[in-house]
Amino acid sequence: VHEPQPKPVATTCPYCGVGCGVIAGAGGDGRVTIAGDPGHPANRGKLCVKGSTLGETLSLDDRLLHPMMRARSGALERVSWETALDAVAEGFRRAIDTAGPDATAFYLSGQLLTEDYYAANKLMKGFVGTANVDTNSRLCMASSVAGHRRAFGSDTVPGAYEDLDEADLLVLVGSNAAWCHPILWQRMVAAQRERGARIVVIDPRRTATAADADLVLQIQPGADTTLFAGLLVHLAEAGACDSLYLAAHTTGFDEALVRAREIAPTLAATAAATGLTPGDVATFFAWFTETARTVTLYSQGVNQSAQGTDKVSAILNCHLATGRIGRQGMGPFSLTGQPNAMGGREVGGLANMLAAHMGFSGTEVDRVRRFWGAPRMAEREGLKAVQMFDAVAAGTIRAMWVMGTNPAASMPRADAVRAALGGLDLLVVSDNVLSNDTIQSGAHILLPAAAWGEKDGTVTNSERRISRQRPFLPLPGEARPDWWIIAEVAKRLGFAEGFAWPNVASVFREHAALSSFENRGTRDFDIGGLACLSEAQYEDLAPVQWPVRNHTDRGLKRFFAAGGFYTADGRARLVAVAPPALKDLPDANRPFLLNTGRTRDQWHTMTRTGKAPTLGRHAPEPTLAIHPEDAAAAGLADGAMARVATAHGTAVLRLAIDPGQRRGEIFAPIHWTGETTAAARVGALVQAATDPFSGQPELKATAASLAPV
Ligand code: SF4
Repeated sequence: VHEPQPKPVATTCPYCGVGCGVIAGAGGDGRVTIAGDPGHPANRGKLCVKGSTLGETLSLDDRLLHPMMRARSGALERVSWETALDAVAEGFRRAIDTAGPDATAFYLSGQLLTEDYYAANKLMKGFVGTANVDTNSRLCMASSVAGHRRAFGSDTVPGAYEDLDEADLLVLVGSNAAWCHPILWQRMVAAQRERGARIVVIDPRRTATAADADLVLQIQPGADTTLFAGLLVHLAEAGACDSLYLAAHTTGFDEALVRAREIAPTLAATAAATGLTPGDVATFFAWFTETARTVTLYSQGVNQSAQGTDKVSAILNCHLATGRIGRQGMGPFSLTGQPNAMGGREVGGLANMLAAHMGFSGTEVDRVRRFWGAPRMAEREGLKAVQMFDAVAAGTIRAMWVMGTNPAASMPRADAVRAALGGLDLLVVSDNVLSNDTIQSGAHILLPAAAWGEKDGTVTNSERRISRQRPFLPLPGEARPDWWIIAEVAKRLGFAEGFAWPNVASVFREHAALSSFENRGTRDFDIGGLACLSEAQYEDLAPVQWPVRNHTDRGLKRFFAAGGFYTADGRARLVAVAPPALKDLPDANRPFLLNTGRTRDQWHTMTRTGKAPTLGRHAPEPTLAIHPEDAAAAGLADGAMARVATAHGTAVLRLAIDPGQRRGEIFAPIHWTGETTAAARVGALVQAATDPFSGQPELKATAASLAPV
């Protein structure tokens, strides 16, 4: 049972990448109080329905409270921490000794705190000697990372949330912000109502976000690149490009424009290829051309694509060509899905990043090796998520540790992933729950991790703002912080010296010191100014946007207004993008295109939101959205049960007639899993084609058939 803490604390919401501040406390009567933090710049005291019902999610029902191991009988049985940690270390050591470091892998989560992520990354990349460390953020925003790095030479979000308050045009691409980033959406609607800012929504679905838009472009799936290529052509022909900015700070404009003209030579051709009317395309182009203060926000509709990086580049091209970047009320803006996707990017939680936004060049590997005193540095990129689970299926990865995520439900081709996990020599799961699809796939060791309300550390939100997550509840049972668990395994692998952190503040200080180690201004991510925080200063750390380069620096709102990119020549690169082409096209056998995504009130696989009665009322069960004429043609009525089948799996869902769907397209929510509604494992339906630059899978366009049940 939780014991109450005397005073409410300022912490951060554990859901979306808006990163709202929360004042949370546990009263003497055991009741938890939750309120928005008026002092946090992300939300200024507001919370959406998910944040405000956090108090309903804190029961210890179904909570993993003790380490467990699978006995010979096949049952999971309680063991001591000593036994469990020894077994994890022994299993990893055996895999390394018999098949080498690359036979091991960590699969992490954007729910982890930065300090947890740092410990995991350091152990694998510096001490075990493999970069097989990837994260569910690969499914979330890896294409934004690749697009940023290609254009800017660094994974930098150029602007700040204040730009949304100050923009005159807000363009949302593949983003249902009204449901998925609600507090930011409220700021955008306020800009519209109070200042007359226009909102354009570009999405194949007419979502809740479209309801408040001034212009809705219900675009053909996969055609975003064409629309923004057409926009670049229009900007060039209208004389709206910023020739001074282009000349001083960029390269690649001519090549990008030539390619854009091949993809979308005219406005009429753009309209035809995107499924939009010429009038709507002309309106969008005119608004973008005439409005200097434009922010283009993009999310999973752009990222979760086998061409996600090119879609990002097509957007960045238009902002770079007009010099609308890093200035008040202007810029491209990637909305991250998870609470700490950004923190994971900062520590190197992605298999193709090393640490502190460094990659795997010889100089960078050597620098990190010396900083860590690392005995066995990974010297090349590791396997990205889809590749990683393919390697599990192929038997080349023998030992895997999954932390805070449920890949057997959330990965594309989830049934194949679940089967592959069952063949591992060692599957370790650190989590809060007693059971989920991944645990049921045959996990050998379960480690009880601290949950929100108990965890202590930092997260970074979509605008680069580092905020503290503070505990207001004691650790229940034998739950422990993830960074501590990782350090204990590291010690058992013989690496005590590199992992002898006495507390979480010391992990953060080391992470901050690495960001400025031999930096000399070569990296955007530099929080060296936080490397000397005392424990008390870390405890009191106020939300701050990086970089924080020295102890007097208090963050930077915007990058790149005057160039200063992190490429070798200091110039941004405009990119000649590839013509759009979906990987899986409907045909006579599978005539629909299946899109997947979130509902308003649930989060991921519902391990937390599923506990809140208030949240369950919005959408009590998973439904399949379909255009009324498609339903009629299939002989299916509203509310009927239907079987969805793809080349990868099947699911049974209740039909919800939705005129906001385009003809031939259906939409299913991702949240319900084998643990909740076995028939609605949507991850099992989705193809695993990936973007060639980011490795992010195409989660929003799989050919599907539909039949009555
Ligand atoms: Fe939490 Fe996001 Fe809602 Fe803010 S907008 S309260 S971060 S879920």
